[in-house]
Amino acid sequence: MVTENLKTVESNIVRACERSGRNRADVTLIAVSKTKPVEQMEEAMAAGMRTFGENKVQEIIKKQPYFPDDVDWHMIGHLQRNKVRQIAGKVAMIHSVDSLRLAEQIQKEYEAIGKVAKILIEVNIAREETKFGLMPEETEAVIREAAKMGNIEVRGLMTIAPYVEDPQENRVHFCNLRKLLVDINSKNIDNVNMTELSMGMTGDYEIAIEEGATFVRVGTGIFGSRQYAK
Ligand SMILES: *Cc1c(COP(=O)(O)O)cnc(C)c1O
Repeated sequence: MVTENLKTVESNIVRACERSGRNRADVTLIAVSKTKPVEQMEEAMAAGMRTFGENKVQEIIKKQPYFPDDVDWHMIGHLQRNKVRQIAGKVAMIHSVDSLRLAEQIQKEYEAIGKVAKILIEVNIAREETKFGLMPEETEAVIREAAKMGNIEVRGLMTIAPYVEDPQENRVHFCNLRKLLVDINSKNIDNVNMTELSMGMTGDYEIAIEEGATFVRVGTGIFGSRQYAK
């Protein structure tokens, strides 16, 4: 199932790139493996996948020993400050930096291990009350502060778009996230040249690619629906 699903997702990505005149190489597919067993992830590995996304620190720590070093782990879920130490140096990118205090904690923990954290700033671009992420108008100020931190590299922006029936409804949000990135880049802030846009999930990744996504985070579309224990 995973192998077949990956083929479908891959061809959808290729076609979305073609429609929008983009290079396939400029879009990274993150296989979101949260709640899924190592066996299913190994099936994805056999099909060539090396980039996994998880939303819990514990799950990353638990799964990592089963995988070779060339696998990239992306932290995509809400990150509590007291858990930063556990993943410091162990993930390729943290997509979900949603406060200055969290950025400060990441700076502290990465400084302690002598490494640089690649981060994305999470933006609540659709202004949903239930979502994490900075409001669009708060984003620049946080980036200005994070840019001064020696062990943090701000690589771009991330958003979780609303749950919608028709994915076209999210096009405006993806477009707005890209505009926000272009706008902040244009201010020529020292150390800020953002190139990454992490946006689009199973329901809407093709639209996100058409609007400039460089990372798409696909879970259900690869591994099937998730069963959460009660
Ligand atoms: C679970 C999750 C995804 C994947 O969602 P699907 O709809 O299953 O593709 C993407 N991004 C984040 C932040 C998630 O938590």
